[in-house]
Amino acid sequence: MIIDSHCHVHPDQDGLGAKQDATEQAFLQALDDSPLDRIVLLPIEPVIPTEFVFNVAAKRPGKIYCYGSANPADGPGCVSAFESIADQYPICGLKLHPRRQGFSGRDFPAVKALVASAADRGLPTLVDCFPYGPGALKDDSLELIDALAEALPKAPLIIAHMGGIRILEALIVARTSYTIYLDLSLVYSVYRGSHIEDDIFYAIRRIGPDRCLYGSDYPDVGLTESYKAMREALDTRGFTAEDQEWIFGKTAETVLPFD
Ligand SMILES: [Zn+2]
Repeated sequence: MIIDSHCHVHPDQDGLGAKQDATEQAFLQALDDSPLDRIVLLPIEPVIPTEFVFNVAAKRPGKIYCYGSANPADGPGCVSAFESIADQYPICGLKLHPRRQGFSGRDFPAVKALVASAADRGLPTLVDCFPYGPGALKDDSLELIDALAEALPKAPLIIAHMGGIRILEALIVARTSYTIYLDLSLVYSVYRGSHIEDDIFYAIRRIGPDRCLYGSDYPDVGLTESYKAMREALDTRGFTAEDQEWIFGKTAETVLPFD
């Protein structure tokens, strides 16, 4: 079972950047042409509605799964918005994106309430963590995840993109609890060829493959291109077949409630 646990589609072709085709059509074609067995779509309310990703998922039943999303920047009402989404759709987690949704550590009470609501339903929360663009040096996503782990020690948390440039700090945070996982999407594609490349595979080994979930962050990176690059990188660095089974599927099957 090969699972790509981090992908996006958008209602607009250039909705995720002018260089990428974020449409449903392009995504379904890429999926059909890929060796992937299962794929997970991540909405980002309000720009990528949960309803929209489920409509795409319906085109490949049993193959595409989806997170749900709500926006902490909306204040306390975000919890009831999330609960109605979780009642309506078979979501496999809560997706939060501080940069695109416009919230930060200042919104901690609303974020904590949302994550607690997801955890009560047995759902993990994935938080985008990739300092980027204007305000990148003020990004406090990792501090937010650290505070969530402290306040809600049983809530499963997934650090998206391994923390980006902050990968070794993300590793420190992840090692504080067995309920924190690293999402491997995008980071290898961005930092390949830099010294961060070594840190990616050091962090996977240190935390363990059973705490790492493979993802591409399509359409930022091609589905097949990303999969082949990660497979080759893990082979080259001596990760065993069992290690790779966890990274490419078993960890996701453990953390994300697909059934
Ligand atoms: Zn993403």
